[in-house]
Amino acid sequence: VIFLQSLPKAELHAHLNGSIPIKTILELAQQYPHSSAQTTEVADTIEKLKSGVILNEIFDFFSLMPAIYALTSTPEAVAIVTRAVLQSFLNPTGDGAESPQCTYLELRTTPRSTTHMTREKYLTIVLDEIEMYPADQAALIVSVDRRMSDSDVEECISLAIEMKNRGRRVVGIDVCGDPRSGDMQTFTQHLSRAKGAGLGLTVHIAESTKNTTEDSLALLSCRPDRLGHATFLSDELKAFKSADYKPCMEICLSSNLLCKTVASLDAHHIRYYLKNDHPIVICTDDALPFRTSCLGEYSLLLAQPPLGLGLSRDDVARVARMGMDAAFLRPRD
Ligand code: IMP
Repeated sequence: VIFLQSLPKAELHAHLNGSIPIKTILELAQQYPHSSAQTTEVADTIEKLKSGVILNEIFDFFSLMPAIYALTSTPEAVAIVTRAVLQSFLNPTGDGAESPQCTYLELRTTPRSTTHMTREKYLTIVLDEIEMYPADQAALIVSVDRRMSDSDVEECISLAIEMKNRGRRVVGIDVCGDPRSGDMQTFTQHLSRAKGAGLGLTVHIAESTKNTTEDSLALLSCRPDRLGHATFLSDELKAFKSADYKPCMEICLSSNLLCKTVASLDAHHIRYYLKNDHPIVICTDDALPFRTSCLGEYSLLLAQPPLGLGLSRDDVARVARMGMDAAFLRPRD
């Protein structure tokens, strides 16, 4: 653990609302007025949380999402959860006494408008919290959801660009959400605009067997700097990456195993990328449902098979360095 703690590490694939510490969610649930719940389903889930029922099945996380969004629909609640997530990664005890999970965090979130705030307000609150940390420790990636309409994607990308131009710490764009939805052809003009404005680009790609080659090709046509998951990227598409294009692969081991998109660590695509000396970064994805942490993910690299990948310390240090090198917050060429 001391070896892993001492390594400079970058967490580059963490979704804000999937990374909320369970303690913070439970506190928000305790304070939530029952009458505010929009649907009985959300009210029931929040009641379950209040009574201490912690959901164990990964499937339950995604049904938990509407309840998490209900609990975080006010500016105050967004500030509370952002602060708690930043603290869990960068300053676990709040006083800097315990080693941070990572050296540098690029947190991502989808701008959300609610009856209490606009998307711009949402991003402003998140950025206010992120910017409490030094620039070499924390930055924001703005996610667009595959389920969004064209005008919503356009609004989110425009907001990201405007905020970056105003000197706010927005460093990139991500495409996330249900892999089965959305026509990625229609996203490309917006993603290219973001790249042209100097933002980094990462996309969830080939995350499910349902993703078609056309879907992946549309996303790859924007030449993203990093690719999230890429679990089912075909050999043909892997060959698409050439000497002058080597996007860093964001690897989320626990997430893939728990979502059952990968059968075992031995069968994980990380092995292909390690063997081919391709840049990768080790990430948590959603620490809340996957009950993981940066150190937990790095432990999987070191542990002997079948519990881990059995990498040497030198190889783990090399992987950590590759992650730091893939951060968006660096002079862009
Ligand atoms: P938020 O963007 O901060 O609200 O974080 C939660 C959101 O991240 C979810 O509603 C999903 O859209 C997205 N998300 C979290 N995990 C995944 C994943 O593994 N694949 C695709 N999208 C994800």
